Amino acid sequence: MIEEILTNLYRVEIPLPKNPLKAINSYVVKNSERNLVVDTGWNQEEALNTMQTGLRELGVDITKTDFFITHLHADHLGLVSSLATSTSTIYFNQKDADWYNSGIHLDNFVNFARLNGFPEDELQEALYTHPGLKYRSQVHLAFHILREDDTINVGDYLFKCVETPGHTLGHMCLYEPHKKIFMAGDHILNDITPTIQLWSDEWNPLKEYLTSLDKVYKFDIELVLPGHRGAFRNCKERIQELKYHHQKRLDEMISVLKKGSQNAFQIASQMTWDIVYDSWDLFPITQKWFASGETISHLKYLEEKGVVQKETQGKKRVYSLNLNHTI
Ligand SMILES: [Zn+2]
Repeated sequence: MIEEILTNLYRVEIPLPKNPLKAINSYVVKNSERNLVVDTGWNQEEALNTMQTGLRELGVDITKTDFFITHLHADHLGLVSSLATSTSTIYFNQKDADWYNSGIHLDNFVNFARLNGFPEDELQEALYTHPGLKYRSQVHLAFHILREDDTINVGDYLFKCVETPGHTLGHMCLYEPHKKIFMAGDHILNDITPTIQLWSDEWNPLKEYLTSLDKVYKFDIELVLPGHRGAFRNCKERIQELKYHHQKRLDEMISVLKKGSQNAFQIASQMTWDIVYDSWDLFPITQKWFASGETISHLKYLEEKGVVQKETQGKKRVYSLNLNHTI
């Protein structure tokens, strides 16, 4: 499906088969010299076919096309390895590029998940069925690194880079200040909530995400072009909703912790998730994985605020409310 958004700016919907997200938006900016494609899709056949058909219909010459990738996740970055030609520039951010270049260390994920109470028998399945691992790009990619306020000029469009860490360490959006459009990647979505997960002890993604939301709130934006689902206009309102969503989740987590110290997996199983399954036990394993990662990011946030404390007992980590902290 191709939708014209503005002159020379199109949305091509790339399918994500068997995934609740259903599709990812790839934005194509056409120009006689160089075209720009923002985000691509999973590295799999159906996505490649849809993208190639879309580009052909738009009359885009792939040998005159560059790519901007908002973040590391395979539904955005995966397909670029099958599309880029020897003349393509692949614009990316430093932190996600470092992560990509260091390769996936599955052991780190396994150990961290185990530490947080993820059941041993479900652990391997969770990783092997994870679409982000299955459909990722696995070749070396030469990235052109962009930073805050760097610009990309394509015809009438002058895009400014906006660093928006949270969904990933280096997530980056594009802002066109004259046309007031904002290519949001997975920073701000409309009818779904970007997942904020943590699978290491190294950062505080929810804190960074909320800071990035406050930053974008100040921008003059008329149209948000998100990574998934349709474009929307009420950016400020949506930012407030997203902030409220996370506050509610933090509050719920504190209530769960009032029952006593628990590991992250146990806490996740008692939280409210916007998902069609009736009970935690019926969740597909990948959804349990996402929910656990989301829980850990919120626990980290509460821990840094001094509301929650963590303790390692043997090879298991448990969280409890910090009784010295007044909420
Ligand atoms: Zn993502």
